[in-house]
Amino acid sequence: MTSKNLGNVLIRSDLNVPIRNGTVLDNFRIKKSIEYIEKLQNISSSVTFTSHLGRPKGVEHSLSLKPISDEMSKLLNQDVVFINNNLDEDIKNILNSKEKGIFLLENLRFNEGEIMNDEKFAKGVASPFDTYILDAFGASHREHASIVKIGNHLNSFQGPLMSKEIEELNKVLNESNQDFTILLGGAKVSDKLALIKNLLPRVNNLLIGGGMCFTFLKALDYNIGNSLCEDQFIESAKEILDSADGKKITLPIDFGVTKAIDSHARNNIDISEFSDDDIGVDIGKETIKKFQEILSKSKTIFWNGPMGVFEVDEFSHGTKEITNAIAEMDVYSIVGGGDSVNAINKFSSVDKFNHVSTGGGASLEYLEGKALPGVNIYNQLII
Ligand code: AMP
Repeated sequence: MTSKNLGNVLIRSDLNVPIRNGTVLDNFRIKKSIEYIEKLQNISSSVTFTSHLGRPKGVEHSLSLKPISDEMSKLLNQDVVFINNNLDEDIKNILNSKEKGIFLLENLRFNEGEIMNDEKFAKGVASPFDTYILDAFGASHREHASIVKIGNHLNSFQGPLMSKEIEELNKVLNESNQDFTILLGGAKVSDKLALIKNLLPRVNNLLIGGGMCFTFLKALDYNIGNSLCEDQFIESAKEILDSADGKKITLPIDFGVTKAIDSHARNNIDISEFSDDDIGVDIGKETIKKFQEILSKSKTIFWNGPMGVFEVDEFSHGTKEITNAIAEMDVYSIVGGGDSVNAINKFSSVDKFNHVSTGGGASLEYLEGKALPGVNIYNQLII
């Protein structure tokens, strides 16, 4: 990196955050994206952020980034100017009109050129700027214009947040000590099969909770009632259980169970006592105890996915207990983003974990061992 002036800087961040009625519900990604802005302002003429939000089909008012510029203004305690057209020919004049200004462009995906990875679009977005900083780890698994094309037209760097994400996830990939535990949960087993296959040989323990454990339990011939199950992956689950020889993988032994997601739970039901219409929605107290015991003997923990339907208070007990247990443990904890971050925000605090990833899908793909299109394509920006 150079200490010379970077001119007009465009940063591709991942500002894809939940918004309801114009209000940002969770600003974790925004906070992480603006952490180094002051330093950057010192070496540039202007700083402009760009991001996608959701999956719009053309221009959709509800997916405008305007609420994000309001949130950024609040967090930075200075005006972040919103520019509502990525290809406005006037952008250079707007940038130059405000020395050291901070700007945010409208949702990249309002232009189909973004996801079509269109060269003309990339060139158009790049044209008012001098420097590009690719810092959107959460979108780095996408072959989109802002990930792989815009940077070709500018003096480009990999951003500090992206570099930190890679450094932390590399710790998981390169971990081979005896005290490494992976804790997985969430809804879909299919999202995490490749990751399990890649990491299982290196871990001492794999704990599986959430909805995804039922595909494994069904593979072991338990009656799981109406619990979530991806039947087409039962064979893969069997293969994984066989390959671990049953030693490394720990599955829940009891559950919070209900007949319907909007009705009451019966707690601590043994897996051998499920009836045909039972739905497992949380892990039970024996499982929590067992998981906590294994986690407490670990030196490194990688966690991704809630232990139950934690959005419903009555089914949130297991996720809450496990979140708080890890938060208080003397371990190196890495959290793989997505819903685990929502759980941490609900029950604890991100400061109590060593690294909380801003990228859900991207961190999972990275840990599958895939080369992501946006990772390590530019030199790191060190500021
Ligand atoms: P994922 O995106 O795969 O991490 O899944 C997160 C979602 O999994 C959350 O919305 C949880 O409500 C859901 N989930 C966790 N445990 C269960 C379960 N036992 N049954 C159904 N859904 C679950």
